[in-house]
Amino acid sequence: MAKNDKLTAIKGMNDILPPDSARWEWFEDKVRNLMGRFAYRNIRTPIVEPTALFVRGLGEVTDIVEKEMYSFEDKLNGEHLTIRPEGTAGVVRAVVENNLLYDGGKRLFYIGPMFRHERPQRGRYRQFHQVGVEAMGFAGPELDAEVILLAAQLWKELGIDDVRLELNSLGQPDERKAHREALIAYFEQHTDVMDEEGKRRMYSNPLRVLDTKNPAMQDMVNAAPKLMEYLGDASKAHLKAVQDILDANGVAWTLNPRLVRGMDYYNLTVFEFITDKLGSQGTICGGGRYDYLIEQVGGKPAPAVGWGMGIERVLEVLKEIGAEIPQPAADAYIIIPDASALPLVFKTAQQLRSAGVAVQMHAAAGGSAEGMGSMKSQFKKADASGARYALIFGADELAEGKVTIKSLRDGEGQQQQQSLAEVAQWADSLKSAA
Ligand code: ATP
Ligand code: MG
Repeated sequence: MAKNDKLTAIKGMNDILPPDSARWEWFEDKVRNLMGRFAYRNIRTPIVEPTALFVRGLGEVTDIVEKEMYSFEDKLNGEHLTIRPEGTAGVVRAVVENNLLYDGGKRLFYIGPMFRHERPQRGRYRQFHQVGVEAMGFAGPELDAEVILLAAQLWKELGIDDVRLELNSLGQPDERKAHREALIAYFEQHTDVMDEEGKRRMYSNPLRVLDTKNPAMQDMVNAAPKLMEYLGDASKAHLKAVQDILDANGVAWTLNPRLVRGMDYYNLTVFEFITDKLGSQGTICGGGRYDYLIEQVGGKPAPAVGWGMGIERVLEVLKEIGAEIPQPAADAYIIIPDASALPLVFKTAQQLRSAGVAVQMHAAAGGSAEGMGSMKSQFKKADASGARYALIFGADELAEGKVTIKSLRDGEGQQQQQSLAEVAQWADSLKSAA
């Protein structure tokens, strides 16, 4: 690359800039608040993990491990590392490593970036972001229902009602074994419509073939033997218990016997929330129970259930439905006619900020020597900032120890003077009016 060529972001990895970043913050605040009400606690794990964690955890014959991981060798010690493609494996590793389940179950959530080498398109990026929950150490179907209800509650609080819930049960390993044999026998009869990937996976991971996105294979996989028909009583009762809790809470669901999810670690309940607003990238949240993953990653066997939610996709839905997301604005924009007042202006600004007022100081662009700019240009900036008030530190007011406060929005143009010594009182009046 020539020396002064413009450097650009990596394809499929996006900057999140203001004002758009306010949508993200708004969403994340809603999520954190809701997690608190469900008593889920935040966990933060490293972005980079040993490659073996994902290979062992997600399964070798999965889209993610076969073709989507950003993996590299550590130059210093030759370790095989991967930038995390999903959140569950790392959380499980952390829980095992720190023995978090020593005194019972844990309810956890995370928010953060994930990385997959996919073809970028709407709703599908190479760096994307997930919220995820993991309820670990609990075996009962009520936890499956709880995490589903948590997601459903989030849709409600975000104002998203165009979303449907699909449910399935993947049963237990012995039930899957019988189904697996039936599936292979079925696929052997239908190799004429199978693509290369299907043929390659039909023996190594036949369940995964059901997850194909190839339109030419849809009829064939739709008619394939259903795992549901191989479930024993305990698995069926588990599913029924989840459904009963959802029904009692008015959360509608449909059974989708083809729903298998992208990772191998799931058993019993799996589910997806799907919207029609995003075309083929309509899955905004997916998850299920993974009772064997913790052992797989080297921990003492413990059951668990969780989901991952694609934040970009949720924000896209919010845009589609025209959700109104408040843009942040300062309460007060400070106008500074004369730069010599700056020390005092800063002092007042700090007092106001300490009292809880959001204050934006005017600053001259470009560091010109002409001072702060004309009053007219400062007022223009104040208006554009969205602030409710302009605080004008003119020489005459300052000589009297005062500042002029002018309304920029409600009661536009109204102004009053406030003594600087009592500026905190004005801050209080602002808060009580809010
Ligand atoms: P898909 O079938 O769309 O590839 P997935 O099964 O790979 O999804 P999961 O691994 O279950 O997805 O991840 C959970 C959620 O994360 C998805 O439902 C989706 O909302 C989001 N997601 C997954 N991959 C991407 C991506 N590349 N870009 C944006 N969001 C994504
Ligand atoms: Mg995928």
